[in-house]
Amino acid sequence: MRAPLVIIVSGPGGVGKGTIVSALVRRDPQLWLSRSWTTREQREGEPDDAYVFTTRAEFERHRDVGGFLEFTDFLGNYYGTPLPEPPPGRDVVLEIELQGAKQVRERNPEALLIFVLPPSRQEQQQRLAGRGDAPDKVLQRLRKAEEEEPEGRELADHVVVNDDLERTIGEMAGIIERERLARGSGR
Ligand code: 5GP
Repeated sequence: MRAPLVIIVSGPGGVGKGTIVSALVRRDPQLWLSRSWTTREQREGEPDDAYVFTTRAEFERHRDVGGFLEFTDFLGNYYGTPLPEPPPGRDVVLEIELQGAKQVRERNPEALLIFVLPPSRQEQQQRLAGRGDAPDKVLQRLRKAEEEEPEGRELADHVVVNDDLERTIGEMAGIIERERLARGSGR
């Protein structure tokens, strides 16, 4: 059996990564979504299992025993991917920001990096505001997105513009399928 494919879905906040990834995982039973840990507060209406919501102390303890594949401090909160343990035969999906994506790439150069971009900053701003982030947080995230876009484009194996959700999901499913075929044939 081939080694599990590690698929990193990265990109700025408010680009729709979470929605895209949920849809991909729902449609493709071979995908296994890693659940991250975070020290940020749960948003109103956010499902309990969106993250493992934890304290800084607990996060640091887990970090110090090598429990994370990658972690970062993103705008004042920790986010981290626990060492993935997918069931046999499943491919791993990580929905993480760029600094974490870089760490995963360093540890696993074979990881596939898909960088998702919003169709426009205006659209991104509307999405960020729409999910209830405070205006200063929206601004911080927009600024960060602008800073990181050039690096993300350069690092990525594929850049996908989320201009239409269904189309984007289809495009990403196609990328994953082609990658499986390429790796399965021993590339
Ligand atoms: P949010 O607070 O909007 O849920 O997430 C903020 C950013 O952190 C998003 O870009 C999200 O993809 C990223 N993120 C979520 N989980 C992780 C993780 O485990 N590691 C890293 N590096 N980033 C993460």
